[in-house]
Formats: sequence, structure tokens, C-alpha cells
Amino acid sequence: MRATKPRTIVVGAGIVGASIAYHLARAGAPVMLVDKSQPASAVTRKAFAWINVSHGVPKPYAELRLLAIQEYRRLEQELDHALQVDWCGALTWNRDLAETERLAREHAAAGYDVRLIERDQIALLEPNLVEPPNCAVHAPSEGAVDPVAATEVLVDAARQAGADVRLGTEVIALTANGRGITGIRTRDEAVGADAVVMAAGTDARLLCQPLGLDLPIDPSPALLLRFKTPGPLVNGIISSSDMEIRQASDHCLLAADDYIDESPDNGPDAIAGRALAAVKKRLRGAAGIELESVSVGVRPIPADGCPIVGFSPRIQGLYIAVMHAGVTMAPAIGRLATTEILDGARVKLLESCRLERFAT
Ligand SMILES: Cc1cc2nc3c(=O)[nH]c(=O)nc-3n(C[C@H](O)[C@H](O)[C@H](O)COP(=O)(O)OP(=O)(O)OC[C@H]3O[C@@H](n4cnc5c(N)ncnc54)[C@H](O)[C@@H]3O)c2cc1C
Repeated sequence: MRATKPRTIVVGAGIVGASIAYHLARAGAPVMLVDKSQPASAVTRKAFAWINVSHGVPKPYAELRLLAIQEYRRLEQELDHALQVDWCGALTWNRDLAETERLAREHAAAGYDVRLIERDQIALLEPNLVEPPNCAVHAPSEGAVDPVAATEVLVDAARQAGADVRLGTEVIALTANGRGITGIRTRDEAVGADAVVMAAGTDARLLCQPLGLDLPIDPSPALLLRFKTPGPLVNGIISSSDMEIRQASDHCLLAADDYIDESPDNGPDAIAGRALAAVKKRLRGAAGIELESVSVGVRPIPADGCPIVGFSPRIQGLYIAVMHAGVTMAPAIGRLATTEILDGARVKLLESCRLERFAT
């Protein structure tokens, strides 16, 4: 542990920045959290927010994803249940039965809490499914969260732990000298810091470019659809080839979908129409549901799909935290990044997330 805790500025109060600021403040570090808008005002607001282990990600990252679920449980306790996860479990299946079986086998072998279940068990879990598949992967320990509420809870907890939270404050530049990062500049002032955490999502690339650092982050749009339902239609998360849905509240069903392009056949409205038709066809009691909203969220996806987390190897004091599945990862990244920033240690579990991997 360092003798004095570094003064740290976190840029971005999405769920990732909010979690890092909370963990830093809780550890007693002097921290400022800066956002040009309000907490969770960017892609976090548009997330489907399934907390999951994910399918088919490379091994070291898969271990981190597994930890991420436990970290949510830790955070729930730590925050005295102000942050609430709906541990509703998830059902996943593929059109190809062999593929569903492979998924279950691989995940179970990796130590995930998943099992292959058959049609009658699926029907018990989700009685409104018109035609349950022959089998599905059931992940009982997965869940979902309201990403806006979770971010707001983290920002409040950071504030209560002593963080200086500046909302509506745009960072227009990171400042640096020959030795490394020196702070940030907003429209009104320059603020000095020993470390700056870049958690600005898709804006991170733009903010780092003037320092000669081109982060390999691609903006990737995806759709979040809200349907008004007469009552709850599903109990857990359902992910199949034609729908990814969960009940956000008794009268709101969420669906996530791919964004293709703006053309009439593939634009957001066309996709929403197809998703609505799929839900009506697949779920009993869904005939009267209505599309309430369609929104496009732009995800910050690192070029190889895995998170970028850690100090920049070139610019001392600049800590990067940009990722997809940021909702799932936020509690784990908040805690682990805090260890690295305050203790100067390198956390082994984060080694697969380093920016250096793109150098080769
Ligand atoms: C349809 C959809 C479904 C998704 N489903 C899931 C899911 O099921 N599970 C999951 O884990 N993830 C999911 N995601 C991804 C998830 O939303 C993101 O990974 C996560 O929200 C990223 O959070 P963040 O804090 O890094 O970024 P953001 O939420 O984008 O936050 C960045 C913040 O930085 C601020 N900022 C930017 N520039 C500046 C500046 N110059 N000065 C000050 N502040 C600045 C912004 O205002 C913003 O508040 C989904 C995304 C979409 C669109």
C-alpha cells in the first residue's frame, strides 16, 4: 500500500465509472467523479442489463465474468440492499440442439452454475412459453439489474463516502507533462490529479487521442425495446435465436436486439416490429402487448471484444476502464481497479484486459 492515496479523477459516471469512484472513495482515496451529463445518461441507460457469465469468451476473461456475478452479491450486501439485483435466472437455447448441449457442457466444465434442462422443466420455469424447446441451458444464478438505478446508487454511495461528484461538467482535455498525466481540463477550470480513470465509454477514444493514445474501441449500436404488458409474462431472462427478453417490471418487458442499419427493412422500427411479432407468437398472454419505445445504445466495444482495463503502459497515471458488458463487469472492475490504483499492484485476473495486448 502506498503511503498516501493518489488523488484520482474518474471521467464518466456510467455504471463503470460510478463503480470505480465508489470503490475508491470507500477505500478512503480522494476522488472526483466527473460527467458531462447525469449518471447513466449514455449507453448504461440503454442496457438490457443481464448479469451473465457469457458464452464463448476467451478463458481468462471468462474467469472474470464468473467473478462478476459474485461481486454483485458482495455489493448488494455492502450497500445494504440499496442496489437490488433480480436474481431471476436465465434460459438460453439455440435452434441447433447440439449447440445448446455443447454450451451447457462447456459452461458446466468451466465451473459455471448451469445445467441442461428439458422441456417439462422449462415449461415449469416459464409457463407462458407456447412451445418450449426440447432443452435449454438454465443458469439459475444469473440475474438482471435496473442499470440506471444501480448507477445512481453507486454515485450516491461514492458521494457519501467522500467523493466530489461533478455532474454537467464536460472534460475537454486530459492534461499531461513529460512524466505522465497531471489532471483534466473542464470548460471552467483545470483540476490536478495523480491518476485519471478514463471511463467515458465511447468517448474515451476521442479524449485519449490528443495524448497520442488511440484506444482500439469501436462504437457498436444495439437496440433496446420496451413493450407494455398487461402483467408479467416471463419469470426470468430468455435468450433464444429470435428473442432476448426479460420482465423489467410487471408491465414492462424489455428486449435487446441487433442494430443492422437504417434501411426500411433493417432499421430499428423494422426490427422492433419483428421482435414484437416473435414475442406475440412465442408467449401466451402476449397478444395485446404494445411497443412502448425503441432506443439505440452505442456500446463501447474493444476491438477483440474483451475489456480494456489497467494503467496505460505509456502515459503514467492514466487508467483505462472501457468495456462491453459493462453492467455485468462494473462491481468486479470497481474493486479490482481500486486495488491497482491504490496499491500499485497488478491484479492477475485483469492481465487479459491490458491495453498492451493490442501492441502485437
Ligand atoms: C441494447 C443493449 C443491451 C445491452 N445489454 C447488456 C447486458 O445485458 N449486460 C451487460 O453487461 N451490458 C450490456 N450492454 C452494454 C452496457 O450498456 C455497457 O457495456 C455499459 O453500460 C458501459 O458503461 P460505461 O460506464 O463504460 O459507459 P457509459 O454508460 O457510456 O458511460 C460513459 C459516461 O461518460 C460520460 N462522458 C463521456 N464523455 C465525457 C466527457 N468528455 N466529460 C465528462 N463525461 C463524459 C458520459 O456522459 C457517460 O455518462 C448493453 C448495451 C446495449 C446498447
